[in-house]
Amino acid sequence: MARIPINIKTGEIEKQENLIVGIDLGTTNSLVAYSKDGETIVVEDKSGSQKLVPSVLYFDEHNNIVVGQEALEKQLIHPERTIYSVKRLMGKAYKDVGTYENQLGYKIIDTDEEQLVKVEINGSYYSPITLSAEILKALKNRVEEQLGQQVYQAVITVPAYFNDSQRQATRDAGKLAGLNVLRIVNEPTAASLAYGIGQDPEQESTIAVYDLGGGTFDLSILSIQNGIFEVLSTQGDTFLGGDDLDKAIIDYWIEQYALTIDNTIDQQTIRLEAEKAKKALSSSDIYKSTFKEKDLELTQIKFEELINPIIEKTLVHCTNALKDAELTKTDIDEIVMVGGSTRTPHVKSRVSEFFGKKVNDSMNPDEVVAMGAAIQANILAGNEKDILLIDVTPLSLGIETVGGLMDTIIPRNSKVPTRAGRQYTTSVDGQKNLKVAVYQGERDLVDDNRKLGEFILKDIPPMAAGIPKIEVRFILDADGILKVEAEELRSKVMTKVEIRSQYGISEEEMALMLISSIKNAEQDLHKRSLLEARNEGNNIVHSVARFINQNLSWLSEEEQTETKRLSANLQDKIKGDNKDNIQKAIEELNAYTAPLAEKAMDIHVSNALKGTTI
Ligand code: AMP
Repeated sequence: MARIPINIKTGEIEKQENLIVGIDLGTTNSLVAYSKDGETIVVEDKSGSQKLVPSVLYFDEHNNIVVGQEALEKQLIHPERTIYSVKRLMGKAYKDVGTYENQLGYKIIDTDEEQLVKVEINGSYYSPITLSAEILKALKNRVEEQLGQQVYQAVITVPAYFNDSQRQATRDAGKLAGLNVLRIVNEPTAASLAYGIGQDPEQESTIAVYDLGGGTFDLSILSIQNGIFEVLSTQGDTFLGGDDLDKAIIDYWIEQYALTIDNTIDQQTIRLEAEKAKKALSSSDIYKSTFKEKDLELTQIKFEELINPIIEKTLVHCTNALKDAELTKTDIDEIVMVGGSTRTPHVKSRVSEFFGKKVNDSMNPDEVVAMGAAIQANILAGNEKDILLIDVTPLSLGIETVGGLMDTIIPRNSKVPTRAGRQYTTSVDGQKNLKVAVYQGERDLVDDNRKLGEFILKDIPPMAAGIPKIEVRFILDADGILKVEAEELRSKVMTKVEIRSQYGISEEEMALMLISSIKNAEQDLHKRSLLEARNEGNNIVHSVARFINQNLSWLSEEEQTETKRLSANLQDKIKGDNKDNIQKAIEELNAYTAPLAEKAMDIHVSNALKGTTI
């Protein structure tokens, strides 16, 4: 398939040489790289001293945003306005992240357990997509400044375990940053590519990628055949990494030297000292320092003993990943080391020992993923003619949902043939028919996309709103023919249609559709968040009305009046077009009704125990 370079500023299709950058959008740090004249270059900051961009954002009191090192330095002074670890929130609902909310210094919003999370800063609400887009913009600026040329196409990496919604969120962030995301690549695949593994179409191999970063651990097993990477299994721990090695040192010192940690300054100082010791012990036998006038010491032997249990945990994941892939250690041809913490020699030697093979560690473990992304980008740019590229679908395919929003089922650039499905439900009691309207395109509102067809799923048996389980399945064959099926799973009522997805659309038209999606990304996101906030608000107004009706027997006069007042306020805000106001009204209503809902639950339970039903 031809790749078309587009100039975002002019909206023109360009003839110039294709430059596509590779981006490693990390939890702690991000990097950007590109390939030129057979060389892969990781972009440095202006001073030429730092390639890592901390994935941290700082909002000043006027909501001006700073990204990177400067933002990181604000973390101690203004934790509530310094946002880090956004990657952990990508594509997640509040119920998925609630447990580690207290580990974040900033506020995440729980207006609706099912909706995607938002972060509150200075009274405004931001989605992780918008926040990640700011990091991507900073990386885009960095490379543009260095090259003196505009960059508008990128390959972005994600962990192998990222699901559909996390991948889609990453794509959207790229779009919002003004980048045409040509492909989302798995981080272990990128790391292997950087080591030159898989670039030879004749080569067949099985690889283990061991990625121990600052706060996360992943082990992925990949198989490469005919230049195609397949993830056979992936295991890991989203809270295991270099920070734990530091903590092991701190705990040891506190015990050994009876240290007292009195405040956050002490905490920070000892943490930095432990990290320094860890790094120093990569090349020397002993580390000496002082803390609050006490001498500290750590030998390499003691350090290794301290971190053994942590390494052991990672090796358990290796065993499990092998089991999941139905392989044994001897099936692994190469082991690739990724992440700053794999610099510790003891980590490398324990991993080599485990697999019975020397590990690939000749490259900078912080940079391999970005370099691999740049190599993949270069392949997509058509500069590496010998490498096979799999056919992909050029535009996203999806259906219309409430409020005219596009819900993508097969994202663009998915390998074909492919199939994907998603479950929906009805919004009205006793609803008999459901219209399924199929669209192609990248814009958030279906009106801005191209309609491919529609059909009606008829004769759904009468059920209350929200009860039917309607699965919409998209099956896209290698010729771009799309079959769409809708089935109500409880009653097995089903309808099928066949649609020719790319029919009548030229590559140029496709390119123009992409341009408009990138140009309008910001406005689209705004419309989408407003529509989503309205949908969420309307759902809450309905459930609150139902709640009052069902609990009239015990709700006090005042509770009813106040709930109704807050609900009326929310309805009023829904009529307006400020999503933050809607969100705030939802929060206020939720805060007031949450204890009432709890009380209702208690009454329900105690009545059930008495044998009465309510
Ligand atoms: P990453 O998330 O891949 O950037 O990894 C960052 C982690 O690597 C942090 O925990 C660092 O302390 C750790 N790290 C960086 N340099 C070294 C080193 N020389 N030896 C051991 N750990 C290191």
